[in-house]
Amino acid sequence: MSPHHRTSSPSIDSKIRKTLPRLYAWYRRHHRPLPWRRNPTPYRVTVSEFMAQQTRMTTVVPYYRRWIRRFPHWSSLAKAPRRLVLRQWEGLGYYRRARFLHELARSVVRRPDRRLPSNPETLRSLPGIGDYTAGAIASIAFGISEPAFDGNVARVLGRLLARNGRSPDTKTLRSIAGELVPRKNPGIHNQALMELGALVCLPRKPLCPRCPFHKVCPSVSHPIRVPTNRPKVAQIKESILVIRRGSSVWLTRHHPQNRWRGLWLLPTTTKTKPGSQPIHRATYPYTRYHVSADVHLANRSSTLEPGRWFPPHQLKLAPLPAPHRKILRHLGIG
Ligand code: SF4
Repeated sequence: MSPHHRTSSPSIDSKIRKTLPRLYAWYRRHHRPLPWRRNPTPYRVTVSEFMAQQTRMTTVVPYYRRWIRRFPHWSSLAKAPRRLVLRQWEGLGYYRRARFLHELARSVVRRPDRRLPSNPETLRSLPGIGDYTAGAIASIAFGISEPAFDGNVARVLGRLLARNGRSPDTKTLRSIAGELVPRKNPGIHNQALMELGALVCLPRKPLCPRCPFHKVCPSVSHPIRVPTNRPKVAQIKESILVIRRGSSVWLTRHHPQNRWRGLWLLPTTTKTKPGSQPIHRATYPYTRYHVSADVHLANRSSTLEPGRWFPPHQLKLAPLPAPHRKILRHLGIG
């Protein structure tokens, strides 16, 4: 047994349970005042959950505010053209979420009561809603006792339930997360665990002295790694072509890896372009990839992808992936 880890007693579950009120008190005092927490309607909670997947809160907040101003409820989002929805999402990445959210709004307004259902099972059957999101929406927006198990919760529980410096596996943690959710205020419970993981039980250096669990946690001050199902980052190289005719730019909807469906793109190829020196290099993360792209000036015959010319005023309105928009801005275009 590692000398760094106190042995967890068999009564750790009851110790954790008894400490939960301290967790809730900590949450009430220290939670971040995120805009959707003031008025957690089903629509607002859903938008925030879709935006927050794989994205930092500091990035989400301004997008969320703009989104709510532009699409204040399900019906305004359902009525909006896809182009506008993607344009509002531009820069947040993972555009599937925007398409799913749009489809979800359309499916909500087709329901007889035009409301999002509260039942977690029904929620899971709707576009873009998996186990975690169904649990978060059901508990936070509807007060239903359902777990919201994400990476932060896994880390907190994995450390609290560690034995001999090892976390239980993800399946066990998920099941314990379900057992721990109270009937009363399940939304506060779930948010408190997630917030603790985000602010205190940090992956590398947990701030144990500030943690409401520090007296009962077997991992206190000795963080263990908790397994997550997050895939490893892979490297990708590609070439991005900037094709101009006067002040217009050629954009396509095709990407060799079927990325960014529904958005307009600078023509992209995964083949290198011999004989052509890049005019710029761009690097950016995309889902589990780290992309490094050489940017080349090219002419219309360099690509067979269908597309069309975009004059400056249309380029401004077209939904583009943020890295492509950044490239155009870097070149003083768009
Ligand atoms: S005491 Fe430390 S390791 Fe344990 S849950 Fe709190 S922050 Fe995480």
